[in-house]
Amino acid sequence: MSLIGTNGEQWELDESLRPIAQELINQFPDQVGHVELQHIVFVKVMGTRNSDDWLGKCWYINAPRSIIPHFVLKILSLKNILKPSDVVVDDDYDLLDLKYIIGINEDRLNEVRDNQEEVLKVLILHEMMHIKLEMNGIQDHTTKDFSYILDQFGVYWASGLMEKSFSDKSEESS
Ligand SMILES: [Zn+2]
Repeated sequence: MSLIGTNGEQWELDESLRPIAQELINQFPDQVGHVELQHIVFVKVMGTRNSDDWLGKCWYINAPRSIIPHFVLKILSLKNILKPSDVVVDDDYDLLDLKYIIGINEDRLNEVRDNQEEVLKVLILHEMMHIKLEMNGIQDHTTKDFSYILDQFGVYWASGLMEKSFSDKSEESS
């Protein structure tokens, strides 16, 4: 199942990104240790316009964000897809407090020829670094990237040309 965005692009939930994100949180606690994954929705996006040249994005969902999944649960129970007993709305408020969407542009990622898996990891690290410490907004980077990422992986990491490979990095920190 996928949803169609405003420019005809397709959005799909991608839970395979969550364990990668968890690994990165463990590996880079100084950079992304503050990120609470239960508040993040991971998606892959396909079929963006050529001019829309992004590899990954992090969107902050503005308030009142929790109300949307609650509305969805209500609809599902009204349609008898969920039994009312399956939905304990009050208790689930924190669980359904979604704050960010992290999206990977699958078409663009597939164009990366070298080290695609490592590019994906640095990309997710980069996107999580956009999450503010209090998880209440987007942290900007001053240059095209965060200086930490540039120091660690070089300026061309997104094309797969890493100065230092990801595996070198993990050996170093373990
Ligand atoms: Zn960025």
